[in-house]
Amino acid sequence: MTANTTAEPTARLIEVFSAIQGEGLNVGTRQIFIRFALCDLRCHFCDSVHTWHTPADCRIERSPGLRDFEIHSNPVLIPVLLEWIERQNLPCLHDSISLTGGEPLLHAGFLKEFLPQARSLTGLPIYLETGGHRPEQLAMILPYLDSVGMDLKLPSVSGESYWSEHMKFLQICYPNLETFIKIIISHHTDVAELEQAALLVADISPDIPVFLQPVTPLADSEQLNKIPILAPTPAQVLTWQALMKKSLKQVRVIPQTHKMLNQL
Ligand code: SF4
Repeated sequence: MTANTTAEPTARLIEVFSAIQGEGLNVGTRQIFIRFALCDLRCHFCDSVHTWHTPADCRIERSPGLRDFEIHSNPVLIPVLLEWIERQNLPCLHDSISLTGGEPLLHAGFLKEFLPQARSLTGLPIYLETGGHRPEQLAMILPYLDSVGMDLKLPSVSGESYWSEHMKFLQICYPNLETFIKIIISHHTDVAELEQAALLVADISPDIPVFLQPVTPLADSEQLNKIPILAPTPAQVLTWQALMKKSLKQVRVIPQTHKMLNQL
């Protein structure tokens, strides 16, 4: 008898839960969130440091929105995750499934198998939240996505520089998917970088919506490298929006509303 050497795809998860989307084009909609473990970036303002490594366990909400989590061990097989998603998917409740993290595209092999099944099981659109720096992995799952929210990382805020990766990424997204950009802005945002970001997006299409998201200041204990994270002033926000609107049609300023609602 020949042994089956084909390993079944698995993913490392942080949590699965139902919540209101607090950012970007889908703000206010209800989503089933699948938060993946692992991130290959190290943004200064990161409020999800707990996703950077694989935890032994993940937490799974039993009833949508009730935070009655049960604990399961990692990694997770596709049929198991499908069962959890089906349990969340009460009639008429959710608008879409959100793939978040960490960086979900680090699990592209798993997603390629999982997403077509999740789509046919729930009928829900699939929304990807990503750092927008892994175009090859995006191409692997493109047919199974409906919309993408790409974080455009400004080097002065994130400590990382991914201009060419962002360009390639956007070229794959647009116009194939509903696409929008999120840019975190802080008191220390470099205005030249904002201008460069606006030109990069406009080069793909001035119709792509851009959301400027004033950083939510972190508590001292949460700050990486002890670099203080300060929100921009109202005058800075008004000036930067005006600057970007010179090359883009839609530049909206929206803070992280899920934090105002005290949600996950
Ligand atoms: S991409 Fe997101 S999860 Fe990764 S370090 Fe940046 S803010 Fe944190």
